[in-house]
Parts: sequence; C-alpha cells; structure tokens
Amino acid sequence: MTATILEGEPIAERMRAELKAEIERMERPPRLVAVMAGEDRGARAYARMQAAACGQVGIEYELQELPAAIAQEELHAALRRLSVEPLVDGIILQMPLPDGLDASAAQAAIEPEKDADGVHPHNLGLVAQDQATLAPCTAQGVVALIEASGAEIRGAEVVVVGRSVIVGKPAALMLLDRGATVTVCRSTTRDLAFHTSRADILVVAIGRAQMIRGEQIKPGAAVIDVGMNYVPGEDGAKGRYVGDVAFDEAKEVAGVITPVPGGVGPMTVTMLLRNTVEAAKRQRGSLDWPVA
Ligand code: NDP
Repeated sequence: MTATILEGEPIAERMRAELKAEIERMERPPRLVAVMAGEDRGARAYARMQAAACGQVGIEYELQELPAAIAQEELHAALRRLSVEPLVDGIILQMPLPDGLDASAAQAAIEPEKDADGVHPHNLGLVAQDQATLAPCTAQGVVALIEASGAEIRGAEVVVVGRSVIVGKPAALMLLDRGATVTVCRSTTRDLAFHTSRADILVVAIGRAQMIRGEQIKPGAAVIDVGMNYVPGEDGAKGRYVGDVAFDEAKEVAGVITPVPGGVGPMTVTMLLRNTVEAAKRQRGSLDWPVA
C-alpha cells in the first residue's frame, strides 16, 4: 500500500481564502502584534512567515522587538500595555525567549481575549473544558488536517506521541472532544510500538528525527507528523528538515500521511490567522466569550 500524501498547503490555502473574505466584511481589519525579545533565527523566520500570511488575508501585522536583556517584569508590562490597546486584536509572543525568561509566566500576562497563540492558561483551560476558542495553533492544525483527511475521528483509536502544552496535550483533548479514544505517550511510555501500532490515527510530536518506523504503524492508519528536525547535509551539502516519522517506510504502510515539510507547518500559521480573526470578532462583540 502507498499512502495518500496529505499536504497542508492546499487546506491552509482554502482556509486563508475564507478568512480573507471574512476580513473584507469587517469594519476594520484585525491587527496582530508579535513581540520578539532578543534575536533567534527560528523566531525571526516565523515572524517573516506571519507577516506574509497576514498580508495575504488582510490582517495588519506589526513586529515589536525588545532587547534580549529585558527583565521579566518589563516584558510582562509590555504585554499588558498591548493587552489594553484598543486597536490591537491579537498578540503573540515569539518563542524561544532569551535564557532566563519564563515563557509561561510571560504568556499569562497577555489578555486571554487577545491570546492569538492560544497558550494562555485560561484558553488552555477552555480546551480542557471542551470549549476550545483560541486553542494552540499547531494543535488546531493537527485536528484540521485529520478532519480534512477523511479519517473518522469518532470512535477511532488515536495515539498522540508527545504531551507538550502547545501540541500533544491540546491535540489529544480536542480529539477526545470529537469522540476518539485517546492514548497519550511520552518519554516514559514503556512500549511505544505497542501503542503506535494499534492507532487508527497517529499524531507524532516528539522532536526526534525519523524515530517512528514503518513497522510501528498500523496498516491504513492516518499519520500526522508534527516533527521538524534539521538534519545537516554531509560533506558540505545543504541540510534538510525531516519529521519524527520515517516517511519513506511509513508511506508504504499508512493510509494517509503528512509530509515534512509541507504538512502541519502551513497549518500552524494559518491557525494563527484564524485565532486573530476570532479574537477580533469576540472583542468587537460579534461572538460571545465562553466563561470558564
Ligand atoms: P516538546 O519537546 O515540548 O515535547 C516533546 C514530547 O516528546 C515530550 O512530551 C516528550 O516526553 C516526548 N518524547 C521525547 N522522547 C520520546 C520518546 N523516546 N518516546 C516517546 N515520547 C518522547 O516538543 P513540541 O511538542 O514543542 O514539538 C515536537 C516537535 O514538533 C518538534 O520537532 C518541533 O519542532 C515540532 N513542532 C512543529 C510545529 C509546526 O508548526 N510544524 C510547531 C510546534 C512544534 P516527556 O514529556 O516525557 O519528556
């Protein structure tokens, strides 16, 4: 069997077209402010992608850069100032932060209604209460990909490998909410292959290049590979990104599989746009805010 390759870009493209149409109907475009403390290549690259994606759908985008030596309290103050700024609809704090800064504490300083990244404790609590509103972008992207794959979520055996706050855990909760039976595996899981090989839907978010092999996958399964691992090229050749799943083996076993790059990645930034629009609508009173 050779799996159907589930590309994220066409699905993301459709979603962006819908968002663009929705934004055109709004009185004023939503505004997203990204805050970046210090300099990081990954954060800079993600900011460039955010700016381009926002431009495509008509969201106003601003990158605010803060010094790497900023104190935790000053960072909180900057985020609180943006939180009360009426013309700012969404705020995202770029990761990683410089050493010594507490990311969770800083994210909690953002007003939950403007938390475009979906990482504020209030918004994570809503995910746990089956009221996902501004949920973490990558987890939303994973769920949207599974929905687009045609795989039946209700009643499915879903195995999520990785339990991070931004990917594994919220994805597991959102799939549980959609009627799946969900198992979450982590580094302490005793027999990982036992779990992965019985998954109708396998979500892998570990951060280890090609760790999940073909023989660990159930024939016909839908495999969503979140991993993004840089593998340097040999003898001066250019490096490349690979997933957490050994793609060439897995595609011979799975029914559907996402590629890396090009699978989950395009969905993440699109979900940031969606959260920004959602945040704008809620703040402008066109949608109710769930009370936790
Ligand atoms: P984290 O490092 O926060 O979490 C990794 C998880 O993997 C942990 O729960 C850890 O377990 C688990 N794990 C580690 N080793 C094993 C093992 N041997 N067996 C089973 N589980 C293991 O990672 P993230 O969730 O932030 O990211 C995961 C991957 O997804 C990375 O490659 C990252 O780059 C990528 N990513 C891609 C995004 C995209 O948009 N495409 C967005 C976000 C992430 P434990 O908790 O026990 O330590």
